[in-house]
Amino acid sequence: MKDRIPLLILGAGIAGMGAAWKAKKEGLDFKIIEASSSAGGMLQSLKIDGHIFDQGPNSCVENDVYLDFLKFLEIEDQLIPASLKSKKRFLYQETGIAEVGGIKDIITANWISTKGKLRMFIEPFCRKGRAEDESVYDFLKRRIGEEAVTKIVDPVLGGVYAGNIQKLSALTVLEGMKLGEQNFGSLFRTFLSAPNPPRQITNLKGGFSTLSRAFELKFKEDCLLNSRVERITQVASGFDVVINGNIISCKNIVCALPAYVLEKVVLIDPLKKHLQKLSYSSLIVSFFTIQEKDLVIPEGFGILVPSKLNMGIKGILFTSDIFSGRVKNQERNMTVFHSESNNMRPVESELKKILGTEKVSLLAQKRWPKAIPQFEVGFQMWKSQLDKFVPEGIFLAGNYLGKVGVADVLKSGYDSTLNC
Ligand SMILES: Cc1cc2nc3c(=O)[nH]c(=O)nc-3n(C[C@H](O)[C@H](O)[C@H](O)COP(=O)(O)OP(=O)(O)OC[C@H]3O[C@@H](n4cnc5c(N)ncnc54)[C@H](O)[C@@H]3O)c2cc1C
Repeated sequence: MKDRIPLLILGAGIAGMGAAWKAKKEGLDFKIIEASSSAGGMLQSLKIDGHIFDQGPNSCVENDVYLDFLKFLEIEDQLIPASLKSKKRFLYQETGIAEVGGIKDIITANWISTKGKLRMFIEPFCRKGRAEDESVYDFLKRRIGEEAVTKIVDPVLGGVYAGNIQKLSALTVLEGMKLGEQNFGSLFRTFLSAPNPPRQITNLKGGFSTLSRAFELKFKEDCLLNSRVERITQVASGFDVVINGNIISCKNIVCALPAYVLEKVVLIDPLKKHLQKLSYSSLIVSFFTIQEKDLVIPEGFGILVPSKLNMGIKGILFTSDIFSGRVKNQERNMTVFHSESNNMRPVESELKKILGTEKVSLLAQKRWPKAIPQFEVGFQMWKSQLDKFVPEGIFLAGNYLGKVGVADVLKSGYDSTLNC
C-alpha cells in the first residue's frame, strides 16, 4: 500500500517555507519533505565563542511577503536593521581600499583614470544598443566603458552572484537597466525617471537561524525532517515520490529543491535533461574576528574585490559593523567570501594583505560547492523552455528561477502554491 498525500512540498529552504505558509493559509492538506535534520536550507547561523555568523545569507532586502511571513512566525520583533555606519562601502583596488559611497568618491578617485571617468559621464549620450540578451560585461561596457565595468560593476555583481560578468545575462540580472536603455535611451535617464526607492536591509537577532527555528516550531506537524527525496515519477493518478525508500503518491508537488538536486531525482524527461544545463558557482565562507583597537580597518558594510586582481577573495562583510549583537566584548567580526582555487594564496594571508593588518583570526569556515545558480546569457529562453517541460501538477520554486535574494525566493515559493 502506498501512502497518499494531496500536496507534497519538497525542500524546507526559504522557497519551501513560502510554499508551506501559503498552503497553511489556504487550508490545504500537505506535508513538507526535508532531507536535513533542520529546516532553513541556506539560512543557517553559527554561534562560536560569543560571535554570531550566518553561513549563507547575511542580509535581506525586505519585501511585503517577507515582513508578513515574519509576523506569521511571530518573530517580527527579532528584526535588526542595518546600522547607519554600514552605509559606507568600499572597493579594493590596485591603490588599496577605496570608499565608494557616492558620485563624489568616483570623481575624486585616484584608482580610476580621467579617461575612465569621462567615459562614464558621457553615458547619456551613447547610442541605444540592442534589446536582445547580452552579457553584463558587453552591455555595461557599451554604456559606461570598460574601466568602470571591471573596477566597479565586476566586484559588485561578483559579490551577489559569485559569477563571471562576461557570462551573466544582462536581461536577467540587470533587467531594469536593460529595459531602461530601450525605453529612455540611457541609464542616466532611466534613474531620473524612476529613482530606486530606498531599500531596507535587515537580519534577525541570532542570525537567519532564528527564522528557520521559528518555522520548525510553527510547522512541527507538517514538516518531515530527515526525509530525503530519492525519486519522482509521473503516474496516472499524479506522482510517486520515493522518500527514504518509501513511496508516497500525491496529486500536486511544489518542488523547492535546488535545480541540481531536482535534476538527479526527477525521472521525467525532457525536464531532467533541461535542468542539467544550469550551472552553479561554488563559494567558501570564512569567519574572522578582529581586535577592535586595530583602527587600520575601516568601518562600514564591507569591501568588494574586482576579479581583475586575481585574488581568491570576492568580498568581505564587516558583519558586526552592519548588525548589532553579533560580537562579544570589544572585538569586531567579519565574513569573507572566497573561491576554491588551489592556486590562490590562503584566505588568511590575502585578507591580511587587503586590510593591511595581522590582527585577524580565523574562527570557522563553510563550503558551498553549489552556492549560487548562474544566470548566463540566454537564461530567459532556458526558463521559458523549462516552463513547457514541467508536467501539470508540479510547481517549481527556488532561487534558480531568476532571483536569488531571500525575500524574492520566499515569494517564489509563496506564489507557486497559489496554483495548486
Ligand atoms: C554564501 C551565500 C551567501 C548568500 N548571501 C545572501 C544575502 O546576503 N542575501 C540574500 O538575500 N541572499 C543571499 N544568498 C542567496 C540565498 O541564501 C539563496 O538564494 C536562498 O536561501 C535559496 O533558497 P532555496 O530555498 O531556493 O534553496 P535552499 O536553501 O538550498 O533549500 C533547499 C532545501 O532542499 C533540501 N534538500 C536538498 N536535497 C533534498 C532531497 N533530496 N530531499 C529533500 N530535501 C532536500 C535542502 O536540505 C534545503 O533545505 C546567499 C547564498 C549563499 C550560498
